[in-house]
Parts: sequence; C-alpha cells; structure tokens
Amino acid sequence: MALRNILKTGEPRLRKTSRRVTEFNDRLHQLLDDMKETLLDAGGVGLAGPQVGVLRDVILVMDTNREDLTEEEQIIELINPQIVEKAGEQTGPEGCLSVPGEYGIVTRPETVTVKAQDRYGREFTVSGYGLTARCFCHEIDHLSGILFTDLAERMMTPEELASGEE
Ligand code: ZN
Repeated sequence: MALRNILKTGEPRLRKTSRRVTEFNDRLHQLLDDMKETLLDAGGVGLAGPQVGVLRDVILVMDTNREDLTEEEQIIELINPQIVEKAGEQTGPEGCLSVPGEYGIVTRPETVTVKAQDRYGREFTVSGYGLTARCFCHEIDHLSGILFTDLAERMMTPEELASGEE
C-alpha cells in the first residue's frame, strides 16, 4: 500500500467526469488499498477516485454510525455507485480533503440508499443516515466533478470556524 497525493481545488481533474469501472483486477485493488491508507492518514470520512487523480467511479465512505467498528472497518468501498433512494433533509457544515480548511453549509438528504459493486464486481446495496448519507452524496458528486463549494448556501466564516459554531 502507498499513500497517494490528494489533489486540491483548482486542479482540473477534480472538475472532470469519471468513467465506470469495467475491470475488477489487481490494479483496482491496489487503487482501493492506497485510497484506504490515504483516507485514514488524512483523517477524512470519505474519498473519491478523482481526488487522487484517478477518473474512475470509485469512492470510499466511512460509516461513522457503526461505532462498534474500527475506523478501517468502517470504510465501505463502492465501485460504480448510484443513489437509488433518498429521503428527508439535513442542513449542516461540510468540508472536503480537496478544499482544506474551508467549510460550507450544505443541504443533503437525511438518508440515502446506494447501489454499487464491491472490488470483485459483486452488486450490493447500502443505506446510510446523517453524516454517512451526507458523505455518500458528497463522494458521488466528485465523480461528476462537483465540489461541495458549488452547493453550499454559504461558506462558514473564519470566526465561525474558530468558535466551532455550526
Ligand atoms: Zn470531497
């Protein structure tokens, strides 16, 4: 495994549309292992292929609702993910490893269900609520070149960030 460089906002690859994964081979597994290590090292809750310069439909999302699991065990690998159901609404702060130090107020569904494939190409469906639902939406947006800053109703001020106010 190896750490990959996380691209920062302004990098054109973050604005491109990713392509579907069709080969579930060693190269994909290497990418997933590297992304997992990179995510844990960066202390984030999700990571998408384009953020490490790979324009493929690959995301990692940490199911932070599963407090019984270790951080590494919380990581869900989703290949070719698609939101198939969403319900409710939540409005709150959101950030991104590619937009360091900035947070914005973004409205997302409260719960989402995602259909995806695992690293071997097997289809599965997974649901999440709260932060996990927010993260599914955020990471899937990356695959279309969308950043949370495009959706934020406003960015948080340095004063708000300093006071920890949401
Ligand atoms: Zn992000």
